[in-house]
Amino acid sequence: MAQYTPMIQQYLAVKAQVPDAFLFFRLGDFYEMFFEDAVNAARELEITLTSRVGGGEDRIPMCGVPYHSAENYVARLIEKGYKVAICEQVEDPAEAKGVVRREIVRIVTPGTVMDSKLLGETSNNYMVSLVSGSEGYAFTACDISTGELYTTLLPASWELVLDELNVYSPSELIAGKLLLEQVREATANWNRGAVVTEWSEADQSLLAQQFATDTMLSSLPELNKQGVALLLSYLKETQKRALTHIKHIRVYEPDQFMTMDPFTRRNLELVETVRERSKKGSLLWLLDRTVTAMGARLLRRWIEKPLMSVSRIEERLEAVNVLYNQLIVREDVKQALKEVYDLERLVARISYGNANARDMQSLKHSLQQVPLLQEVCAASGSETLRKLVHNMDDCADVMSWIADAITDEPPVSIRDGGMIREGYHAYLDQLREANKNGKQWIAELERKEREATGIKSLKIGYNKVFGYFIEVTKANMATLPEGRYERKQTLANAERYVTPELKEKESLILEAQDKMVDLEYELFTELRDRISGHISRLQQLAEVIAAADVYQSLAAVSAANHYRKPEIGEGFDLQIEDGRHPVVEAVIQDGSFIANATNLEQEKGRILLITGPNMAGKSTYMRQVAVICLMAQIGCFVPASAARIPVIDRIFTRIGAADDLIGGQSTFMVEMMDIQVMTEKATSKSLVIIDELGRGTSTGEGMAIAQSVIEFLHDRIGCKTLVSTHFHELAHLEESLKHLRNHCMAVKESGRQVTFLRKLIPGAASTSYGIYCAEIAGLPEAIIQRSYELLNGFEDRAAAASQVVASQQVAASEGRASQMQGKNGYAAQRSAASEVELSSNQRTAAIAE
Ligand code: ADP
Repeated sequence: MAQYTPMIQQYLAVKAQVPDAFLFFRLGDFYEMFFEDAVNAARELEITLTSRVGGGEDRIPMCGVPYHSAENYVARLIEKGYKVAICEQVEDPAEAKGVVRREIVRIVTPGTVMDSKLLGETSNNYMVSLVSGSEGYAFTACDISTGELYTTLLPASWELVLDELNVYSPSELIAGKLLLEQVREATANWNRGAVVTEWSEADQSLLAQQFATDTMLSSLPELNKQGVALLLSYLKETQKRALTHIKHIRVYEPDQFMTMDPFTRRNLELVETVRERSKKGSLLWLLDRTVTAMGARLLRRWIEKPLMSVSRIEERLEAVNVLYNQLIVREDVKQALKEVYDLERLVARISYGNANARDMQSLKHSLQQVPLLQEVCAASGSETLRKLVHNMDDCADVMSWIADAITDEPPVSIRDGGMIREGYHAYLDQLREANKNGKQWIAELERKEREATGIKSLKIGYNKVFGYFIEVTKANMATLPEGRYERKQTLANAERYVTPELKEKESLILEAQDKMVDLEYELFTELRDRISGHISRLQQLAEVIAAADVYQSLAAVSAANHYRKPEIGEGFDLQIEDGRHPVVEAVIQDGSFIANATNLEQEKGRILLITGPNMAGKSTYMRQVAVICLMAQIGCFVPASAARIPVIDRIFTRIGAADDLIGGQSTFMVEMMDIQVMTEKATSKSLVIIDELGRGTSTGEGMAIAQSVIEFLHDRIGCKTLVSTHFHELAHLEESLKHLRNHCMAVKESGRQVTFLRKLIPGAASTSYGIYCAEIAGLPEAIIQRSYELLNGFEDRAAAASQVVASQQVAASEGRASQMQGKNGYAAQRSAASEVELSSNQRTAAIAE
């Protein structure tokens, strides 16, 4: 160390504080990086790597970025999942003795981004902290760009932690070492990249400071206090400033919301599609007609967290209903929201201290809309909307402060003046007057000098280095009288002079100008600080605005697509008439989507066993049932002509997708693990959806597992269940399971031509049409022909084999025999193709016996 220059020594000392971050070390107009950081940053940012001497034997690798464009570089590193520590010069270089003092002023991490370029407008950017105790896990999520902070106590179940992580999909996760290891192990199922930060300091004294006004704090469970403290300690360390906009702790119980595992969320394509992982094509995409960023974010949260309380759901439906039926009110709400900016983030920037005068203008514009919104909601006839705006604080005082202080078109920079209105501050006005007078005086001086010297081309100009000057062309120099004019600068064909009185005036003008700019800055920050004191009020207002926006969005989509208001109840029976899959329907567009009814009832069958060929529409149908329930529970109308939806506590889906090979596990293993969780967690209030149950292992085993899973759901859990299977043989279960009903997707055959009718009808399907599918997929005729030939051969042998089996059964034990007879009784209906599979399996069984 000693061999390095003092500056490099200083660098190394600072760098030691942030070993896991890039250190942007301010040197004049650049942020420089050295050593390893320089090598890595040059690679990641594609900037030139140079080197410099630094006292050591070798030259030190170095690269740098200009300070004025640093934001972009920081953003790029953050996007790649790195952290960046910003180290500034904290004393005036002119006054420094020795090396200028430097300090880290902020560490930017993926979870603590404030820069709007890096933040998705319509999604939150969460940082999550996790702590564990004997009570379970305290899960805390905070978005510092909006000031939201949520915390919940999760029972000691790792699945719930993963579910929650999936809901918030944080960009950064902080926890102690042990927990992080567990998370890493489990991230196979939670496959969204978050930066993981090991952190264990949890200073509980920060809680009282941060949430002085929040009554929630005292009733917060101890473990959650730890979790919140952990998060605050980390924020304090990285942000190095008070985050006063994080004011409220929102505590929730996990059972306030419907539970869905990550796989289910993904499969139902709630906020992004399975394949492209894009918003387009998801439920969120379909339902999002919000006009504000806050509304868009709230809608996403609603979709991620369907409600469980009938009364709260009804409250939402009531507002949607009114806006659905009254186009004019809906349009008025939308109109009022159009000029509203992202209040949450504006307010966060104000309290963070990086809002400029334009942000103030945006805040003012937004606040100006509030009375209109309030009026429209109050008069809408909706009780929910009326309550929403009742007692609403429109923050008119804040608006008038800004209106009084800030000019209509302020500049971006807050250091150059031009922000503060005339008449706002007497001394500022005086300075401006002095400045203006000074400039007039100069104009006057120019006229006088021309007269006195007789030089018509004489002019007075200004530049930053020399200040004001009198400029005379070379040709006229001789006419200038001696004495009074002091030569300042020589140009190619002109000479610049100053006079004592110009010098004097100049210092007055410049002084006024400096003072003006300083004073404007002071007045601006004073206003900003004043508004900071009213953050809570503004945040509450933002919440109201966001909710109004979501209501109008849900109503607009519902009206446009002819959805209907669902009836929500605590009962068991689920009835949907003419249900449609909202997204598939919207994508098809031509109105050709075939509606299907659903009845899952305590008495008339709560398990549907759906058979039918590939492409018949089975999985679309099953997803549609889940999505309709979910839409109802977020308070939206549903794509059906009528629907009665009982509150569902969990949706489980096991819907095969090509990409579910996670972490090297086989599809089958993943399926079994999911089913295990389902058997443990499902209740009679759950909705279970299993597509192609039992695929991925041998036919016999697959079918055996499928049957026992269905029996378990039937006998032990009693939940609403939709199962699709290509084991047509399972249709016999209808005979033994009281609550199970066979359904299939109707297909029209004419000759070798098959048409999928996409209509769900009672009964079991009789064939898979696998070869037909292969044919329309365009496989060569030779293969198709050969397949039909083979199939016929299998069928003949299968028929013979099942005779052997039938005779074996007579000798079998009673219980087993009755089951086999069930199958046998159904044998006549079996499809040719799967009969082959079953029969060959039975043959093996027969041989073994
Ligand atoms: P399966 O699960 O039986 O293989 P899918 O549900 O994947 O079939 O549906 C196959 C295709 O049929 C999908 O591309 C979908 O767009 C279309 N489809 C499904 N259900 C309907 C319907 N009710 N009306 C119109 N088209 C449908």
